Amino acid sequence: MFKYIKFFISLIQSSKYKRKGKCKKCGNCCRNILLYVEDEPIKTKEQFEKVKEWDKHFRNFLISGKGEKGELLFTCREIDENNRCRMYFFRGLGCRIYPHPDTKFLTNGGKPLDGCGYYFETDKKFKSYLKLYGLH
Ligand code: SF4
Ligand code: SF4
Repeated sequence: MFKYIKFFISLIQSSKYKRKGKCKKCGNCCRNILLYVEDEPIKTKEQFEKVKEWDKHFRNFLISGKGEKGELLFTCREIDENNRCRMYFFRGLGCRIYPHPDTKFLTNGGKPLDGCGYYFETDKKFKSYLKLYGLH
């Protein structure tokens, strides 16, 4: 429950960025997923096997590769060969809002995947920041 509250708070927290663009339905975000345990990405197969034992949601993923920092990448079992989600209408909130420019995502170096149809843009013009800090 607590992790959902944290998630909603992170959505509400204002970000200086907003999402622009459109999904190209490439399916990359369903095949390059980072999974976290206590705010740390899963890095080993052994760790993954262990978390699957106490949280069945993790069983919905397969290891599909490794990221630049050694973190494991996962593919969701619900993506089909045509890049369609088999549970589209029942997919989770995280899937519905990806990529979301919340502060935590951005400060952890998060950005849309290469080739993604979405991009982030500042929500204010540079001039308005100068004004805000009395520099204009
Ligand atoms: S990576 Fe971007 S463009 Fe591709 S399916 Fe995901 S949201 Fe859509
Ligand atoms: S549930 Fe659907 S949208 Fe979410 S990661 Fe899996 S395939 Fe992608």
